[in-house]
Amino acid sequence: MAANGTILDPSQALEHLKTYETGDGLAMSELINSRQHGGLTYNDFLVLPGFIDFQASSVSLQTKVTKNVTLNTPFLSSPMDTVTETEMAIAIGLMGGMGVIHNNMSPHEQASMVRKVKKYENGFITEPLVLSPNETVGDVLEIKQRLGFGGIPITDTGALNGKLLGIVTARDVQFRDNDVLLSEIMTTELVTAKEGVTLEEANSILRDSKKGKLPIVDSEGHLVSLLARSDLLKNQNYPLASKRPESKQLYCAAAIGTRPSDRERLALLVEAGLDVVILDSSQGNSTFQIEMIQWIKKTFPKLEVVAGNVVTREQAASLIAAGADALRVGMGSGSICITQEVMAVGRPQGTAVHAVSEFASKFGVPVIADGGISNVGHIAKALALGASAVMMGGLLAGTTESPGDYFYREGKRLKGYRGMGSIEAMEHQKKSKVVGATGKGAAKADKLAADVGNENAATQRYFSESDAVKVAQGVAGAVQDKGSVKKFLPYLYTGIQHSLQDMGVASLAALRPAVQSGKVRFELRTASAQVEGGVHGLHSYEKRLFSS
Ligand code: GDP
Ligand code: 5GP
Repeated sequence: MAANGTILDPSQALEHLKTYETGDGLAMSELINSRQHGGLTYNDFLVLPGFIDFQASSVSLQTKVTKNVTLNTPFLSSPMDTVTETEMAIAIGLMGGMGVIHNNMSPHEQASMVRKVKKYENGFITEPLVLSPNETVGDVLEIKQRLGFGGIPITDTGALNGKLLGIVTARDVQFRDNDVLLSEIMTTELVTAKEGVTLEEANSILRDSKKGKLPIVDSEGHLVSLLARSDLLKNQNYPLASKRPESKQLYCAAAIGTRPSDRERLALLVEAGLDVVILDSSQGNSTFQIEMIQWIKKTFPKLEVVAGNVVTREQAASLIAAGADALRVGMGSGSICITQEVMAVGRPQGTAVHAVSEFASKFGVPVIADGGISNVGHIAKALALGASAVMMGGLLAGTTESPGDYFYREGKRLKGYRGMGSIEAMEHQKKSKVVGATGKGAAKADKLAADVGNENAATQRYFSESDAVKVAQGVAGAVQDKGSVKKFLPYLYTGIQHSLQDMGVASLAALRPAVQSGKVRFELRTASAQVEGGVHGLHSYEKRLFSS
């Protein structure tokens, strides 16, 4: 009914809305301004629904996580010793995200994890491991154990560019004594391809040959690179995988601190193939971090540097000016975190993500919303607030791929999850030292010896070396078994696709302009609205999040 009481023509509803009505809800700037004197958390607001004219499955979540790294999904795992080591980094990389390997271990151990991630998948393996005919079955088994593969080309020199003589595979060495020479067991009838072949052509030769490996040789039969059949399968099974375009290797990120010794650590990580380094500091606006960024940019110009953590424009400006390729945002919002309680410093995460993203976007610097993500809706909100990706700790802890063993308590299957600023994370180092003395197996002893040489790595982010009393900024706890990230991440991915569809936005790339133009609208959520939006009024229920 119009103001004068007449009923309007229904076919004019859209025109009328556009001409005479103000849209429902708030534009992003109004939402933020409504809390000028108090911050916004993810739970304090909702996104209003938009118009759907596309399928959820067609929504692309491709995003830039740093200036020069684009991923197919906006998911990162936290550099924490109960979240990201090799297994998580590989799995999340295959699923289209990126794992950040923690630094609560020796530099060599961390570099070896980076190397494993980088070696996991390849296009042309340009520096394949090569042996000579005079080496033995034992050498192949050692390589298989250390690096995970046993298909090894044999050349006369035992090195790349030597004359290709044969190949050994894991099956050739099965049931053989360790001292048998490779010349006795290698396969010499080889399918090869000529140098200059494209990756596509080589893949097709490999497919047709039904062999496990395809050595690439020059016109004189010298080995120049190698192709593995298993990479064809990985490519087929994981279409979203986060790969460096030139090498087809998984992207790998790792955390370091900002002490002088971290420069040596970083050199090892870069040598192992690191793509992205994260400067792990709870308050990143410091001379230490600024000098570190400048040094890294000068020393390793191709390495992407994620600086932080920050929560204000002022902090962001220092790090952007120093050369950061992305910023990590969050202080005190993490699920295991007691920083705000103890230090009185921090910021509600919604406001922090918005403030830093808005500022950083002017300089083309992507923002990673770190901490406080406990469901799909939080991810969608972080992205709507301007983040290019989210970093998750607690949500990915308790998966098959996170470090640690499952245990049972009160009938529930759990895994440990702890803050890197917890006393427990620090004490882990001391325990290693004691157990190390009893020595249980060579590999373990090596790891422990390495730990001992690096006693304070765990504590760098939160404690100063000179502190007589360590003030904890995190707690240690447990989270429930979530199964494999290979099932859990597709749930998050599909959830976000549906969320963007509900907002009426056809891709992550379209979300930011749609928010800026006021097309995507928001509403504040009162305490009672939060109760209403949760499950309520039931006697009991089971919360199953997905089935696959
Ligand atoms: P293998 O049959 O035991 O060699 O193992 P697979 O073929 O199943 O796996 C080899 C995987 O390791 C592939 O994804 C390769 O890209 C990767 N890889 C990385 N570096 C090397 C290398 O130097 N030699 C071989 N054979 N594989 C490598
Ligand atoms: P979550 O995803 O569990 O909510 O938060 C993970 C994030 O919390 C990490 O990426 C890291 O930024 C932060 N964090 C990890 N350990 C600690 C800690 O001990 N104290 C604080 N304040 N933050 C932590």
